[in-house]
Amino acid sequence: MIDTHAHIAATWEGAAYPGGTVGVLARAAAAGVAHVVCVGAGGDAAEMAAAVACARAHPGVSAITGIHPHDAKNVDAALWQAVVQTCALPEVVAVGETGLDFHYDSSPRDVQDAIFRRHIQLARQLRKPLCIHTRDAEELTLRVLREEGADAVGGVIHCFSGTCAFGLAALDFGFYLSIPGIVTFKKAGEIVETVQKAPLDRLLVETDSPFLAPIPHRGKQNEPAYVALTLAKIAEIKGLSLAELERATDENAVRLFGPRLQVRLAG
Ligand SMILES: [Zn+2]
Ligand SMILES: [Zn+2]
Repeated sequence: MIDTHAHIAATWEGAAYPGGTVGVLARAAAAGVAHVVCVGAGGDAAEMAAAVACARAHPGVSAITGIHPHDAKNVDAALWQAVVQTCALPEVVAVGETGLDFHYDSSPRDVQDAIFRRHIQLARQLRKPLCIHTRDAEELTLRVLREEGADAVGGVIHCFSGTCAFGLAALDFGFYLSIPGIVTFKKAGEIVETVQKAPLDRLLVETDSPFLAPIPHRGKQNEPAYVALTLAKIAEIKGLSLAELERATDENAVRLFGPRLQVRLAG
């Protein structure tokens, strides 16, 4: 199984794991996780460099780099140069996470919109898929994706937790949905219905570590080893065996992000 979105190399306060990155990856491998996609998308170049370094140090890890919508206001010429340089590296399998977050509004909405569009244009230049973060901005997210021709490269709605209508529209546009541990919560919103309706060949699974740990770890620090719990819940919803779901979601991740994801974590 593959954790397609985890901030395991994050440099921000309180993000460190017991045993460091080596410890977290050893626990993931022991739990049957074959590959981890490490997202480096904070508000500075150090965050991106840390994700790239993690992927270089561990063949079973790939990176995604970009500027989170929260931090869109930080983008100046030098920071954008760092985005362009890291996204072009072979260890980096997608551009992001980028998008719109109108829940927290940590950056002005017009700035988020402009920086989101730049990420899409970059992904198209590099021919790499997009990793999309969206919250309380579903309609505008879809509109920007359409206007910028994001379907040319495709991508994933990471940590999908929106409305079923949005999920189906994103699938219609050719994007994948990555399902987080929220699906195991009692109040999972419309995620369960969306998982039921989504074609099996368009689902991915993620932890979004260190956030959103699935039941029974809810409220604690999340880590890639727990992706198995989310996978089990999705298998139950889909009426499939764990092995069937694992095979399908692994194939989906490789199809979207490329053959690098076939490299397994060292056990
Ligand atoms: Zn996100
Ligand atoms: Zn994230």
